[in-house]
Amino acid sequence: MPVSGLGPYDDQNIFAKLLRGEIPSRRVYEDEWAVAFHDIAPQAKLHVLVVPRGRYVSLADFTRDASDAEIAGFFRAVGTVARQLGLEAPGYRALVNMGGDGGQEVPHLHVHLFGGEPLSQRMVAPRG
Ligand code: 5GP
Repeated sequence: MPVSGLGPYDDQNIFAKLLRGEIPSRRVYEDEWAVAFHDIAPQAKLHVLVVPRGRYVSLADFTRDASDAEIAGFFRAVGTVARQLGLEAPGYRALVNMGGDGGQEVPHLHVHLFGGEPLSQRMVAPRG
């Protein structure tokens, strides 16, 4: 059971459809554990989302229910994507929104990777 207040996993969520190839995306990486694609509404010059292949709503149920292999495989993929996109040398930001206060909109765990330009220092902004 998810613990994020987002409800149980919904196989019709947009990233589930995207993983199944039912809607298009600009994929940049995929392996056994994860798929990465460009965000449809980029908030930085480079904005990529990395999602686990498993059915996890959020960081909450992923860190509670996923196997050690899934967790290791997924976070290793996050680093691999950043490296392959050439973000390691200049640096980048990785972000996970979780649940209501976190502003999570899509109920399938995803890590945002932002980069390609210097980013604001402002990490946390209360909703206006
Ligand atoms: P969240 O607010 O849940 O952390 O982030 C969801 C992200 O998914 C947003 O940055 C949004 O632009 C992105 N997004 C929503 N729908 C789609 C889609 O259909 N395709 C892609 N590539 N990104 C999407």
